[in-house]
Amino acid sequence: MLDFLGDLRRTHTCGTLRPADSGQRAVLMGWVNRLRDHGNLIFVDVRDRTGVTQVVFNKELNPALHEKAAHLGSEYVIAVTGLVKQREPNLVNKNIATGEIELVAQELRILNVSKTPPFLPGEPVLPNEEMRLKYRYLDLRREKMQFNIEMRHKVSLAIRRYLAEQGFFDIETPFMTRSTPEGARDYLVPSRVYPGSFYALPQSPQLFKQILMISGFDKYFQIVRCFRDEDLRADRQPEFTQVDLEMTFPQPDRVFEVVEGFLTAAFRAAGQEIKTPFLRMTYDQAIRKYGSDKPDLRLPSMTDVRQAFAPENLKTLNVDPRLPVVAIRIPKVGELSRKERDDIKPLFGERRNAKLFEDAKRLEKSFPEAMAKVRELSGAEGDDLLVLVAGNEHPGEHPSESIVGPEVKQHDAAVYTAAGALRVALAQKYAERHGAFRRGDFHFLWVTDFPMFEWDEEGKRWAAAHHPFTSPHEKDMDKLESDPAAVRALAYDVVLNGTELGSGSIRIHRQDIQKKIFHALGMSDEEAKARFGFFLEALEYGTPPHGGIALGLDRIVMILAGADSLREVIPFPKTAKAVDLMVDAPTPVSEAQLKELGIAVRKKEMKA
Ligand code: ASP
Repeated sequence: MLDFLGDLRRTHTCGTLRPADSGQRAVLMGWVNRLRDHGNLIFVDVRDRTGVTQVVFNKELNPALHEKAAHLGSEYVIAVTGLVKQREPNLVNKNIATGEIELVAQELRILNVSKTPPFLPGEPVLPNEEMRLKYRYLDLRREKMQFNIEMRHKVSLAIRRYLAEQGFFDIETPFMTRSTPEGARDYLVPSRVYPGSFYALPQSPQLFKQILMISGFDKYFQIVRCFRDEDLRADRQPEFTQVDLEMTFPQPDRVFEVVEGFLTAAFRAAGQEIKTPFLRMTYDQAIRKYGSDKPDLRLPSMTDVRQAFAPENLKTLNVDPRLPVVAIRIPKVGELSRKERDDIKPLFGERRNAKLFEDAKRLEKSFPEAMAKVRELSGAEGDDLLVLVAGNEHPGEHPSESIVGPEVKQHDAAVYTAAGALRVALAQKYAERHGAFRRGDFHFLWVTDFPMFEWDEEGKRWAAAHHPFTSPHEKDMDKLESDPAAVRALAYDVVLNGTELGSGSIRIHRQDIQKKIFHALGMSDEEAKARFGFFLEALEYGTPPHGGIALGLDRIVMILAGADSLREVIPFPKTAKAVDLMVDAPTPVSEAQLKELGIAVRKKEMKA
């Protein structure tokens, strides 16, 4: 029953025919998207990557051909030869680009059949995600997925072109390597030749790209897969793609220019114009004004309105006068009902250090003057939602001496970040009312001067906030030993609408400083040597100043495609539980394979 392709050649793709082609012979090839049997007339919509064309089989014109078409099923693969015909005005389909024409069939070759698909790619209603991922090839036939994957192609091509024009070389780095310093767990690959030894899949090409700078390549980039075995979270993939780059002799500004340039090119490829240079803000400013190191600038910043309250007011409210009183303002939310007010509390949750005043009205009754001042300081208008977050009163000693950032004290930061999290939650809840979250509204930002170290409560030691090869500020070098908390790093993040798109830094190029950093991190010389010895040695052979950054490509494409999940823009993603449902991975392997690798598997309680 099936036909061969023979020497039949496709003349057009399914999205290209127009009224100007009327009267022409055309050969289309594709999938049966939809079939409508009207007795004497059978309409078949044939689909490929470029679109859909309606093909008509007319019993009166060709009964045998009509009979053959009657046997077609959904997702059969066909080749149709026919004549292009302009449709009558009342039959025009405005929803598709080829809607003004149809193809009057003269020959049909059925190239392949299809089992009845579990869902139809041409149907707008989506099956559940498990089904979509198991039958990913059918899911990828859907118009939206074809659009997303094409978008991904265009965006990465635009980035490659831009960086190549700027003199960056696209250089590959190994996938089978040893542990890289990004702080997550490694995926390991056992070596058969050296039983008991393992390669690690790279969490990033960090050390290789730095070594490429030592090797004199000046500017490197790679659109590269990275692997991180992190705890499972809703929208995270164990393997993901980064736009990774590194250059010699840059100040952070130079890295910013390059990133702004390739993002402009990438967004343009998706039909979006963005404004450069991006705004810049230090980490401390971001925490103080937005309670977050990835501020969403589509909403107003927060204000410390402590000065509006007299000390006795704060006492009555059980608020610690040494800590900020943060006003959060979400514009144009309007009156809230009693119930809506109550709904704010769970968004804030239980916090030890910070407390919430969600009812500005009630405060207004008790403290009219203070609240008038609060409105003035925060710039709140009548229909803005206004809530306050303040520090819980801490009896006894005030431990604000420990600091998280170079300037923001830890207890201040606890109030700011509690307020920052609530700000975002409130904005999401009332997104429709304030209207600030429109698609296509892009607020980019550089966050700079991150703290060099973070206190690791579990390990009771300082940890590198970015990675241990990040350079401290030249001005803060003398505090490395005396006051690690106050050391700023030459590290930066690029943030878009409250999401971190990428991080990078200027690196340490001097052996003496690198040693001091390992020391501050509590890493002995032996330990540093065991983990990164090859790299430390390379540093000793004339390493130039260098720096770079890596941005998440999946996330950029997700934003440009207007998708809600990374899985919508990755052709073959894993589920939130790190499973590939199509190929069914991971799986146990045979005893023989394990034996060859010298591996014995220990039975382990499965974690729920
Ligand atoms: N390797 C870093 C990362 O993947 C980025 C960088 O510092 O260039 O986050």
